[in-house]
Amino acid sequence: MLLKEYLRFNKISSKQFSRMIKVSEISVSRYINGKRIPNKKILKAIFKETKGFVSANDFLIDKTRNFELSNDEKDEIRKLAKEIKLGSIKSLAKAITLVESTHSFDQKRSDFMISILPKKNKSIRIGISGVPGVGKSTFIEALGLYLLEKNFKVAVLAVDPSSQKTGGSILGDKTRMERLSIKKEAYIRPSPSQGHLGGVTKSTRETINCVEAAGFDVVFVETMGVGQAETAVHNMVDIFLVLLLPSGGDDLQGIKKGIIELSDLIVVNKADNNLLTAAKVTVNDYKNALSIISSTREGWTQKVEMCSSLNQEGISNIWKNISSFIKSRKKKKYFIKNRIDQNKSWMWDLVHLKIRNFIEQNIKDNEISREIEKKLFKNKLNSITAANQILDIYLKNFK
Ligand code: GDP
Repeated sequence: MLLKEYLRFNKISSKQFSRMIKVSEISVSRYINGKRIPNKKILKAIFKETKGFVSANDFLIDKTRNFELSNDEKDEIRKLAKEIKLGSIKSLAKAITLVESTHSFDQKRSDFMISILPKKNKSIRIGISGVPGVGKSTFIEALGLYLLEKNFKVAVLAVDPSSQKTGGSILGDKTRMERLSIKKEAYIRPSPSQGHLGGVTKSTRETINCVEAAGFDVVFVETMGVGQAETAVHNMVDIFLVLLLPSGGDDLQGIKKGIIELSDLIVVNKADNNLLTAAKVTVNDYKNALSIISSTREGWTQKVEMCSSLNQEGISNIWKNISSFIKSRKKKKYFIKNRIDQNKSWMWDLVHLKIRNFIEQNIKDNEISREIEKKLFKNKLNSITAANQILDIYLKNFK
């Protein structure tokens, strides 16, 4: 228990307690308000005098993480949410920056914001995957422009944790979708460059909420052809597209089978000029390959189509396929069931992420952990006992 609570509960003044543990009154007040952590000797004295109710752990955890937002702070977020709903792009960008922030105060504000934003199930979330160079941006731009003509509002997001390596992001260079990015009804957000996949996935999911609340009704989530990110994107969209290059008879292009299994629609891009024949061969190859792969979706047989994003050919056919997929999923109630399932996995992902962050921020570098590490180093503890001790700290203090 916190020292403050112990003293209040037992009606002991800080002056009395300072005499009990033989330190100055000012030191006790610093321990109470978290401005200072008692040293080992004092910690022992506190433990003894409080009969074990106040232990070292009670001082080492960052209590500020449990703070509540003030009414003014909540009002500020309510105002932001209202502006988003009215379609303010400036407020939308501000909200996404909040969502992407790893700062604990921003996280609190972001959690509150997400909780008050309307949740819309009318949108269509489209995952787009494929190796670099296959034409993802060109394809999204072509389909995006086509959809704007049909009066949709289009948002483009990205999940690309590997982008940290290059310090950039796959959509960082907006000129890749030059024509789409200048349209008022389109919103393109570069990939968040922070953190590991879990963090990027979290912020992308919340960004989807933000753009939908702002009235964007088709949301593209782009990712590169690398395993884990693919699964993460598949778990946050309604339909998952894999883009392929015409391969002219080379079988399966070194694309991982798992990714093909995830796809609802395979699109062979660059079906133009001297690649047209190769594209047709590739379509047939994949149609054959799919006949022995079972679809991950109930009631849907995966399709293989081709298009030329560069020449805007076959784009309307791709949209026809996407629409009929969505229509059939809605009719059989799979659409909403999928979203509910995704919310469930989002919840568990958050639990894992929050525990991970808690350990990183509050446990890893604290004094007790360092003590345990020292003992481990000197062979006084084995790894299992050490891990259990760390978990003990965590279980006591995690809220
Ligand atoms: P991304 O890395 O997957 O986003 O690929 P990009 O969209 O940047 O495209 C990579 C290259 O392929 C660019 O030079 C595009 O102009 C080209 N490209 C994209 N789509 C097509 C297409 O349909 N036909 C042809 N011939 N080239 C294309």
